[in-house]
Amino acid sequence: MGTWENWSGTVSVAPTRVYAPRTTAEVADLVARAAERGRRLRPVGSGHSFTPIAAPVEGQVSLRHLTGIVSADREAGAVRVAAGTSLHELNDALARIGLGMVNLGDIDRQTISGALATGTHGTGSELTGLAGLVRGMTLVTGDGSVRHVHRDRDPDLVRLLAVGLGAYGIVTEVELDVMPAYRLRALEQPERLGAVLDEVDEISRSHRHFEFYWFPHTDRVLTKRNDIAEDGSGAPLPRWREQLDDHVLSNLVFEQVNRLVCARPSLAPRINQVSGRALSRREFTDASHRVFCTRREVRFVESEYAVPRHALVQVLRELDTWIERSGEHIAFPVEVRFAAADEIALSTAYQRETAYVAIHQYHRRDPSRYFAAFEAIVAEHDGRPHWGKMHTLDAERLSALYPRFDESRRLRDELDPGGVFTNPYLEQVLGR
Ligand SMILES: Cc1cc2nc3c(=O)[nH]c(=O)nc-3n(C[C@H](O)[C@H](O)[C@H](O)COP(=O)(O)OP(=O)(O)OC[C@H]3O[C@@H](n4cnc5c(N)ncnc54)[C@H](O)[C@@H]3O)c2cc1C
Repeated sequence: MGTWENWSGTVSVAPTRVYAPRTTAEVADLVARAAERGRRLRPVGSGHSFTPIAAPVEGQVSLRHLTGIVSADREAGAVRVAAGTSLHELNDALARIGLGMVNLGDIDRQTISGALATGTHGTGSELTGLAGLVRGMTLVTGDGSVRHVHRDRDPDLVRLLAVGLGAYGIVTEVELDVMPAYRLRALEQPERLGAVLDEVDEISRSHRHFEFYWFPHTDRVLTKRNDIAEDGSGAPLPRWREQLDDHVLSNLVFEQVNRLVCARPSLAPRINQVSGRALSRREFTDASHRVFCTRREVRFVESEYAVPRHALVQVLRELDTWIERSGEHIAFPVEVRFAAADEIALSTAYQRETAYVAIHQYHRRDPSRYFAAFEAIVAEHDGRPHWGKMHTLDAERLSALYPRFDESRRLRDELDPGGVFTNPYLEQVLGR
């Protein structure tokens, strides 16, 4: 028993019984008993969702004892992974056997099953989010039955389950597409927002990964281009530079900047001008997961919407206009990423080439006005919210954004008829 809090501190639930089963059979037993007694259980990963998606009503199920690679088929490019494995454990374990994840987001603290459940993604115009890599899974459904689902046998069921919101059952194992280990050549540099937006289509399509951070109140951006180093050549950042940039500047100094802005918000535009100018170009090559993932020690809250790629420029212009007119002072950069369309029913990139726009606010500042304005802007462009990041949409609105929404809800009724896994967030987004 104890209070459970998510990473950003936006959700706190007390007191909660935490179950930590060691096998799929133990998970099945736990769920069967809960179903019989009409109790609720919520699977939880590492609590890195900003929304209350993982918040338990009664018991919480942690898969912290179900970790590691279960098996690997290098020829097929496939691994089976226990569902409680964190991404950093997975990356290290894959590297040891000469394999790597096809794509990753910007941190590696999440569990693989938590990341899949919310549609976690990285960036890359030709690449999908992590759920697009799911080959199969083992799932304990609402009556305690164990289902093994595989895309070779039932591809459509995998498409329905891959982004599961923790609503269909407790996943105990996933099988994923992986690739031979690779190194990425990273080029990060300051540029002008206008110039980047003029050519954003071309730039984002000509690199395996492209993203940029725009500093509000300025026309400055930091762009990041990552491509596979085919010949494997190139050196990682020297240790001192990595420490300076990724620890001292991105975390320690940024924390102080945010405290300052918290006390005097009107300093944000000047600070962003200085930060935007102070950024320097850096080029390095390293193991893919070391390039993708960084440390995030400054606490913040975040909202992220997927919009059709073609709407990106308009969304950013409208956001810029709102920020300037509103008098709101924003110190956190706005992050822009890309993904290919996919076929996963509840993926934010379902059948749509996607641009992701993510806005952040320091955890000690009130994000509500900024986030509400952003939500109003993206609503005009059929924005789909990241399931794990702040938003206020409900089932009625979401059903208009996801063509397979009703099918997903029917499947959930079939797999969890008694609502063992439900919580208030699921009631909000699924309508029951
Ligand atoms: C600093 C930071 C950086 C981030 N960067 C990115 C990013 O680059 N890209 C991106 O897309 N997102 C990003 N996120 C969001 C994050 O990836 C997602 O919210 C992710 O779901 C968190 O994983 P978790 O293990 O913490 O899961 P939790 O938040 O604990 O749970 C998320 C969901 O997964 C379900 N779940 C967990 N385990 C299971 C299971 N075994 N079976 C069934 N359901 C399960 C839970 O019920 C819940 O619905 C970031 C978040 C933070 C805090």
